[in-house]
Amino acid sequence: MCMGPICNVMPLIHRIEDLQFVCFALIFGVMAFQSRRNATIRYVWCSYLLAVAVAVVDFSVAQPLSLFANCLILTILSLRYAVLAAGMASFTGKARRLAMVCFGAVAVACCMLGLGKAGISAAVVRALYYILLTVQLLLICTILVRSRERSTRVPRWLLAALFLLSAAYRVNQMAFALSDKGPFNIWLRDQGLFLNSTILGCLLPFTIVWMMNARDHTILLKQSLVDPLTNLLNRRGLADAANRELARYARQRKDFAVAVGDIDHFKALNDTYGHSFGDEVLVTTAKLLRDQLRQTDIVARTGGEEFLLLLPHTREDEMVPVLERLRVLLEQQTMKTESGSEAGITLSIGVTNTCGRTGLSWTELQKEADAALYQAKEQGRNRIVRAASAS
Ligand code: GH3
Ligand code: MG
Ligand code: MG
Repeated sequence: MCMGPICNVMPLIHRIEDLQFVCFALIFGVMAFQSRRNATIRYVWCSYLLAVAVAVVDFSVAQPLSLFANCLILTILSLRYAVLAAGMASFTGKARRLAMVCFGAVAVACCMLGLGKAGISAAVVRALYYILLTVQLLLICTILVRSRERSTRVPRWLLAALFLLSAAYRVNQMAFALSDKGPFNIWLRDQGLFLNSTILGCLLPFTIVWMMNARDHTILLKQSLVDPLTNLLNRRGLADAANRELARYARQRKDFAVAVGDIDHFKALNDTYGHSFGDEVLVTTAKLLRDQLRQTDIVARTGGEEFLLLLPHTREDEMVPVLERLRVLLEQQTMKTESGSEAGITLSIGVTNTCGRTGLSWTELQKEADAALYQAKEQGRNRIVRAASAS
């Protein structure tokens, strides 16, 4: 018995849903082909291929479905959920064990294929399948919400909510399998089917793509702000940090220092010991600067062998001792070359300070520190020179 206008379009909705599965299987197939190293897309693609398999079985067997055909479809569906769970676990890099449990549920579903012949009522067999699918969907939700990754939080939680809705739909189906087939129950089942086929069917794949994009976007953004050799901020990353610090200075008037350090005779190091040794020197210098300064200090690589240090909440009388400690530590550091000899690193530093001045720009501060660095080089290198404005 069918109630309301929705019932008339139920078969059509089923066919549209099947068509959607075919389309998404094609799209994810192309995506999987293009990003061959992305395991998540491969799993999602497989899950849509299984959805197409369900549609093919549903389409090709006689209607109404026999209990065995129905159980076969639900078993394939359970495999689909297990594959989706594996995809979500591979994406989050967590809860792989939960994904294995999902595969265990598929084994149970396969065993249940024979229940119809064992004399158990069709309603109970169907209800058991729906319970199994509900458990699998709840496991997928758990896999998604257990991750702590900030960049994917919104789409991940939305996806978990969609899987939760899908679980509610399966509970609805289970209740229908066991209930009397009164008009209200039929209406409830049809509404559930309608919502599941239209809204969830569309939103789920888009949310999966959104979730993957959110991570790629964050990785690319980070890469665009960080120098790959030293893992320090690059010029672009520094600009953001510098503007933030200037804005804070405008509000709080807490002085900060800007220093530019340049490795001495770096070209000679490169020429004598090779470019890869030069790279090692850069990495060692960057590590020392990062390790020795406070978490709140900003360290950036602004050029070949040039580093910029931004020291928040640092007065002009405090800045030189900090930098002097860095200079001495670097001077004491010796590095083994390929030939076994030892090479030293020294750094010339020019430094300036906001000194309570108003209307300062970042370019101005950088120019002052650069001019002081130039003087440090002129005066014989391996030393610190204060800018005239901070003397
Ligand atoms: P000064 O004491 O006056 O600073 O002299 P310098 O030799 O350190 O400075 P110069 O500007 O003459 O040379 C800088 C060299 O840094 C030249 C360039 O080939 C090298 N360089 C730039 N980027 C990199 C890099 O990423 N890796 C390596 N190994 N070398 C680099
Ligand atoms: Mg240099
Ligand atoms: Mg230089």
